[in-house]
Parts: sequence; structure tokens; C-alpha cells
Amino acid sequence: MRLSRYFLPVLKETPAEAQIASHRLMLRAGMIKQASAGIYSWLPLGFKVLRRIERIVHEEQQRAGHIPMLMPTLQAADLWRESGRYDDYGEEMLRIRDRHDRDMLYGPTNEELITDIFRSHVASYRDLPMTLYHIQWKFRDEVRPRFGVMRGREFYMKDGYNFDIDKDAAVHAYNRHMVSYLRTYERMGLQAIPMRAETGPIGGDLSHEFLVLADTGESEVFYDSAITDLSLGDRQVDYDDWDECAGIVQEWTTPYARTDDTHDDSLFNEVPEDRRRTRRGIEVGQIFYFGTKYSEPMGATVQGPDGKAVPVHMGSHGIGVSRLVGAIIEANHDDRGIIWPEGVTPFHVGLVNLKPGDPEADRACEKLYQAIADLGLETLYDDTDERAGGKFATMDLIGLPWRITVGPRGLKHGVVELTCRRTGDNAEMSPDEAVERIAEIYAPHHGREIAEPMARRSFHTWL
Ligand code: ATP
Ligand code: MG
Repeated sequence: MRLSRYFLPVLKETPAEAQIASHRLMLRAGMIKQASAGIYSWLPLGFKVLRRIERIVHEEQQRAGHIPMLMPTLQAADLWRESGRYDDYGEEMLRIRDRHDRDMLYGPTNEELITDIFRSHVASYRDLPMTLYHIQWKFRDEVRPRFGVMRGREFYMKDGYNFDIDKDAAVHAYNRHMVSYLRTYERMGLQAIPMRAETGPIGGDLSHEFLVLADTGESEVFYDSAITDLSLGDRQVDYDDWDECAGIVQEWTTPYARTDDTHDDSLFNEVPEDRRRTRRGIEVGQIFYFGTKYSEPMGATVQGPDGKAVPVHMGSHGIGVSRLVGAIIEANHDDRGIIWPEGVTPFHVGLVNLKPGDPEADRACEKLYQAIADLGLETLYDDTDERAGGKFATMDLIGLPWRITVGPRGLKHGVVELTCRRTGDNAEMSPDEAVERIAEIYAPHHGREIAEPMARRSFHTWL
């Protein structure tokens, strides 16, 4: 993408309404614009990051064997009356009446809708286990929407629902979700710690929240620092292997880690003192097992092996896709701007032409641009007439992890400059070497795509 033809409305001034870094930086980098309180338009750069995150979520859900689908944003109130949540949900639910006086609502979550789909079409235990998920806009009329996309009223969420024959199978689904979430966040360059949580209005008896440590987080968290040494790395996980998934869950849930809702001082005090941490965190996901809470009142039963009808055991599992954009920035920025992890960066490379109009510089930039495109990577090419200082400031603000700077002076000696946004390290090298380095840097992120060729193709078309 050429900057001269892109829409990147960066702001020079720091917007007064933004209280935290991610909100400030998203506004300054031209990623979002507030449409009304807690509701945002995603401008091109923000939209690109949202799509990258969404894609990782899709890939990891499908790797775990979960099936994508799409449910609507508007739902009929009747289903929520069946589960008893129409009245329970309170003021956060946006209630709407259509022209025929039917009560509708903008979905804050989808347990009722999915249970209805399930009970209409699935009748036998032979169709289980099954996990369906979608990524869709949600609406919760938060009292105090704030911090930009972190606590919006309209927000984008992945929510998945497992249907299993009994508790053991549903606990495996819970474990599978925990493992797939750990992978998902790691691919985004984030450490999200699973912490034991209350189940709240969703109900049930088993739940973990995933928290990214950040001073601006809304939750107070207590943990054993040993948990921050854990990582999945390149471990290959067989998601059908109950013991393997349970083992990983065991590994992550053994060190103490809780939010203030479930914190227990006496247990915390058993952690060696030098490993006890009290900090703040941002909730980027939550998983629940709630048994038959919805299947029983809504009649979602299957015929078991003995011919008897049994209510299915369910859980629901959410990832805050739009909140993640903010959370990633909270965890990755400095005083000059955002620093995108390679896995979610909107463009892989920023290319700065110090002298557009200079035939040598123009030619070298075009060649680099093409060579990087041939790798399947995207470049934001600053081909504008702005002065060098301004170009660098914009690149630093929007946070592309790698920058290639091209100018007539370097080209005389056959070199361009490759700069790492995170460390500030830079090195001169030939344009060919720069392309090779970029290919090496991004190779691991490319190699992790799911193997299915159709899925890969269709992802590309909407990115
Ligand atoms: P919170 O405690 O932050 O209000 P929640 O526990 O009510 O969130 P869940 O029902 O667990 O939210 O939803 C799944 C995920 O959706 C959350 O982990 C969070 O990342 C995201 N999310 C929830 N509410 C919002 C919101 N108002 N704006 C943006 N993301 C949200
Ligand atoms: Mg939650």
C-alpha cells in the first residue's frame, strides 16, 4: 500500500478525552473514530489489525476442531424468556421493539440462540461432541464505556459453545478451549494468564479468565510469578487427547493466579514471598463450564446410548477480539507510539523513501516493495513528500515492527537501512539482504497457518 493513496488520518495532538495509552494511540494513529459513546468506526489501519486478530482466532479455533458459523446480532426476546435471563440481564441489555411490537434485543451473548439451534437439529449422542463458534458484534449498554475499544458498548467477540454428552466430555472441551486460548494469545505476542474466576450471569461452576498484565487494567490480580515462565511455544498439541489437554491445563492452573473476585489470602500466602505478585490486568477472554443450565430449561436433550433423553452438558467460551487491539497496545508501546508484535501488525514492513522523485531511490523502493509482496507480506510505502523527520514519526506512531529506509546517499554505497521498531537497532545492508532478513523474521508467523488450502484462500480474500 502506498501511503499517498491510503487513508491514514494521524493526529498531531493528543486527544484530551483519552485516558490511557492504547486509546490515545489508537486515535492518534488513525485507527478508530468514535461514532457515539462506546461505539467506534474502525478506520483502515485499525480494521486491518482487527482482521489480523480475528484471523488468528479463527485459525486456532479450527485447529482445535471447533466449527465456525454466524449468528445475527438481533435476537428475539422470547428465547431469553425461556432461559429466564430476559429479566435477569438488567440494564446492560439493549432492548428494541420492532414495528409489530415484538420484543427484540441486541445480543450481549448467544447461549440462548445457539441452544435453540442445537435443540432443533441434534437428537443423538452420536453427533457429539460438537463445538460451534462465531465472531460477531455484541452490545452491552455499559454504564461507563471508557478506554476506547477496551470497554465499548458495541464490541467484537468470539463466542463458542460446546455440547457434550456428560460432564467429563464437557470438561475436556473446557480444557481444549483453555489450551487453544493459550496458543491464540501467544501468537499475538501476548502473555494472557488464566486465572480462576467467578461465573457471574453466565452461571455454572468452572471458569477461568485470561488476563494480560498492564497497569491500566481494570482488574486487580494476584499470582505466583512462576506462571509467567510458562509458554506453549512450538508444542504440537493433539486436541483430541484428553490427558494431554488436561496436563497442559494442570500446568497452567497449578501456580496461584486469581482475580480479586476469587482471591484467597491464605492460599496466596502459601506462595513463596519473592514470587508473590499483585498487579493489574486486562481481561481478554473467559471460559465457562455450566453443565445443563441452559439445556435443561430449554429442552436441549439428546438420546443417550441407552435410548434415554439426557440434557447436554455445555460451556461457553469468549475472546474479546476488539478489546485485544487495545490490550496488545497497552502491552506494547513506548513514548513514540505503538510497537506491533509481528503476528498482528497491520503491515509487515514500513518502507520510507527519503527522496521521492529521485530516480534511483524510486527504483530501489519499487523493487523492494515488489520483492516483499512476492514473499506474501505487506508493505506500507511512504512515497509522500513529507520531510524525513515527519515520516519517521508517523512510522514510529503506527508501530510497524520493521522499517526499511531508502535514500540516495545510502544507495550510492549500495545500501538501505533496516530498523527494528522495538529495540531501535538499525543496520545498513544491501536491498537483497534486507528482503532476506524480512523473510526470516516473518517465516515462523507464516508457517503457522492452518494447512487446509481452501481456508487459507478464503482468509486471504477478506484480509
Ligand atoms: P468485563 O468483566 O470486562 O465486563 P465480562 O466478563 O462481562 O467482561 P465476558 O462475558 O466474559 O465479559 O465476555 C468475553 C470477553 O469479551 C471478555 O473477556 C472481554 O475480553 C470482552 N468484553 C466483554 N465486555 C466488553 C466490552 N464492554 N468491551 C470490549 N470487550 C468486552
Ligand atoms: Mg468475563
